[in-house]
Amino acid sequence: MVSPGFYLVGNDPAIDFANTVDSPSGNPAGALECWRDVVAFLQALGAHGPQSAAASIVEAVKSGSRSDFEKVLAFRAALRNALATLEQDHVPGRADVQVINEMLKLDSGCAKLSATGGEWKLSRERTFNGPLRALIPIAYAAAELIAMGKDSAVRKCSSPTCLIYFRDPARRRRWCSMAICGNRAKVAAHARRQKEA
Ligand SMILES: [Zn+2]
Repeated sequence: MVSPGFYLVGNDPAIDFANTVDSPSGNPAGALECWRDVVAFLQALGAHGPQSAAASIVEAVKSGSRSDFEKVLAFRAALRNALATLEQDHVPGRADVQVINEMLKLDSGCAKLSATGGEWKLSRERTFNGPLRALIPIAYAAAELIAMGKDSAVRKCSSPTCLIYFRDPARRRRWCSMAICGNRAKVAAHARRQKEA
């Protein structure tokens, strides 16, 4: 198990999941290596809302095999391909969308109105019997991004070595984090100026 410090700067649950490949510092912090990391990620994200749902995820994922975990990685790879395409304002390809559709096919449960703050809120009550179903909320968020097309406002960090994507509807953000990549670029520019002077 790797560091539980996930880098949640994507402004979207699917993008945060896609960003679990690496950290901008080059350390594998936040990367996924096994099912326990998947659980840690989903918990860090709060992807399953109330504690009861979170507990059922932990239960579901206990039976997660290595071959199921390979499917998690294949799903993430397809998602990253789709993000790379959206980032260029292009339409994601069929093969990658097919992988995401396969995840969506696992969805089960029903729609439900529940009382939230004096109002009725429409949500989906899911059953998480089976490890891959733990990722259904992520697959759903991924599908929503793809269906948004250009409006998804998917961008990549401006650092050429950084692998982090994020949503930027205001189109004002350059870096995954000003504190990390933004600052590093500033330091590099300063060093260049010093050298030239
Ligand atoms: Zn970055």
